[in-house]
Amino acid sequence: MSQSAPEYALAAHPTTVGDARSSTKPVRVTPTLVIGGHDVVVAAGPCSVEGYDMLLDSARHVQSAGGTLLRGGAFKPRTSPYAFQGLGEEGLRLLASVRDETGMPIVTEVMDTRQVARVAQIADVLQVGARNMQNFPLLAELGRAGKPVLLKRGASARISELLLAAEYVMANGNERVILCERGIRTFETITRNTLDISAIPVLKAETHLPVIVDPSHAGGRADLVLPLALAAIAAGADGLIVEVHPNPAAARSDADQQLTFAQFTELMHGISLIAAASNRTIRIPAPIAPSIAAADVAERSHDTRRRAEAALAHAPLDVVAA
Ligand code: PEP
Ligand code: MN
Repeated sequence: MSQSAPEYALAAHPTTVGDARSSTKPVRVTPTLVIGGHDVVVAAGPCSVEGYDMLLDSARHVQSAGGTLLRGGAFKPRTSPYAFQGLGEEGLRLLASVRDETGMPIVTEVMDTRQVARVAQIADVLQVGARNMQNFPLLAELGRAGKPVLLKRGASARISELLLAAEYVMANGNERVILCERGIRTFETITRNTLDISAIPVLKAETHLPVIVDPSHAGGRADLVLPLALAAIAAGADGLIVEVHPNPAAARSDADQQLTFAQFTELMHGISLIAAASNRTIRIPAPIAPSIAAADVAERSHDTRRRAEAALAHAPLDVVAA
């Protein structure tokens, strides 16, 4: 008599019908940082770690504007083998020193099974890039790495394939997976990729995993980062990962899409208003915390504020100044 194999129970549970967001199980990164909870979490920093000073400057600015995770690639997946490949081990050391200096946890990419143990010593969150979303040995190794994994959607991956990639990590022992929508390849060429906004509510409903959005790689242009970020938070994303550089024009990778410090501050301000409109919070340090005081509103006259305030008209406000 043949026995059929038991059906595999997926580790990523569908959320219960109703308020999908409340069914997300937050992923703890550090004792004070969770992703997928009430706070919208923003990771930001340069595309590539290029040196100590630029990384420290970026970290300080990101932190002062309300970002809580520092991003920066040490190992870079570049389309051309002749392009800057990242500083590698030296980049990891720089990330570690800047974390020591600022206290900011680090998210950085790991590209290869042979790098996992070393990157896991340094990083607080291990990033799997879009190009590696279906590198199954890497995903399995990350299941055993003991650190949260930020899993980016492949440029041509279906949502179901992203979820099965997450399963590889979870089935190998690591439940701390954060999904990242970063744009998919379509027929459109004006933008680098096409941000799949609908993936956000779908992923939130299909799984209990936190979902964040990368508006930098999605649009591929600095001027698109703000509107895509606003849309992502409005659609229910738990956070963002954004590229910020002290001098974007001189960046060694992704120069077109990295934000200046001033643009990043503006982004944080804009998304805090959208977050408040959907009854969530962003902990922005006091100097740039938005306020409902009319005087403060009057001081900030740019399109972002007007667009975000329109969304706020009838919403409860609970933006927190930390
Ligand atoms: C990155 O975050 O630096 C990166 C290479 O992104 P993606 O894998 O989404 O292209
Ligand atoms: Mn990049």
